[in-house]
Amino acid sequence: MYDILIVGGGPAGLTAAIYARRAGKSVLVVEGSGLGGQILSSPLVENWPGQAAVSGADWSEALSRQAADLGVETAFRQVKAAEPIEGGFMLTAGRKSFEGRALILCTGAKHRHLGLPREEELVGRGVSYCATCDGAFYAGGETAVAGGGDSALQSALYLSGICKTVYLIHRREEFRGSEILARRVRERENIVLKLSRTIQALEGEDKLTGLVLRDVTTGGTERLAVPGLFVAVGQAPENTPFAPLAELDESGYFIAGEDCRTRTPGVFVAGDCRAKSLRQLTTAAADGSVAATAACQWLDGQ
Ligand SMILES: Cc1cc2nc3c(=O)[nH]c(=O)nc-3n(C[C@H](O)[C@H](O)[C@H](O)COP(=O)(O)OP(=O)(O)OC[C@H]3O[C@@H](n4cnc5c(N)ncnc54)[C@H](O)[C@@H]3O)c2cc1C
Repeated sequence: MYDILIVGGGPAGLTAAIYARRAGKSVLVVEGSGLGGQILSSPLVENWPGQAAVSGADWSEALSRQAADLGVETAFRQVKAAEPIEGGFMLTAGRKSFEGRALILCTGAKHRHLGLPREEELVGRGVSYCATCDGAFYAGGETAVAGGGDSALQSALYLSGICKTVYLIHRREEFRGSEILARRVRERENIVLKLSRTIQALEGEDKLTGLVLRDVTTGGTERLAVPGLFVAVGQAPENTPFAPLAELDESGYFIAGEDCRTRTPGVFVAGDCRAKSLRQLTTAAADGSVAATAACQWLDGQ
């Protein structure tokens, strides 16, 4: 049995793992896809204190290496269930199970979809949720980004560096994202703003060929012939497998205060999966360190 099991190998989970290992605990991180979490989709991080500019991939590579060098163990499995057992907790992931005395849930959040007809069929055939992963497929051509927050602005800026034209579609006149990114987007000549518009339909049989846009003020429609659409309309958590151990709010985020404790002694939550007002690398790392320290103190008190 490990001292601490961590679900999720994103910034919060890996930071928790580093703190727990440095406190002398045995740690297993169970990660459902690849280490690094959402930040892997970010072309450029410019708000990590002490580092003016770094790609999300490089940032998470350094973090993963730091954790591995400290002796953090990793299992690549999607956890389907978590339950209390004698002396701790058990995670079930397919036919595998893992046992630990304390549990830190760092499940983050996943890309939200637009919910349009045929969206799921066209994923990987023109519809993508990650500009840095798939942008190169559209190099020199035209593409579109949907959304108005930081992720959408970053994606549009990144794509404008490799595509001829990037259409940025947002349902409001003003962006939700930070002022500095919005200014850069407005200044970039090959980003064409399609504001106060929503996507009404995705066109194309085997692959995306175009979008039908609806003007929210006039109700009029227009067709945009693009082979690529990058959806960046926010994230949503997937915490239901853990609801028996930790309370969820109406949006599915774990309810826990700044101390990262849940209603179950020995279960802690950290990062974007927790109900809070700011979801960033800094807050994920802060939560990870707080949760790991609380878990270590809880274990030492047992
Ligand atoms: C495009 C984009 C750009 C961004 N740019 C910035 C930026 O410039 N600066 C900034 O500060 N922040 C940025 N962010 C936000 C930042 O990435 C997140 O706040 C941060 O990654 C949250 O870390 P986390 O560990 O809480 O969650 P996540 O990064 O979401 O990691 C959670 C991990 O848990 C795993 N997981 C989930 N459920 C399970 C399960 N059941 N079993 C096993 N594994 C599971 C997931 O696979 C994932 O790897 C950006 C986000 C995106 C999407």
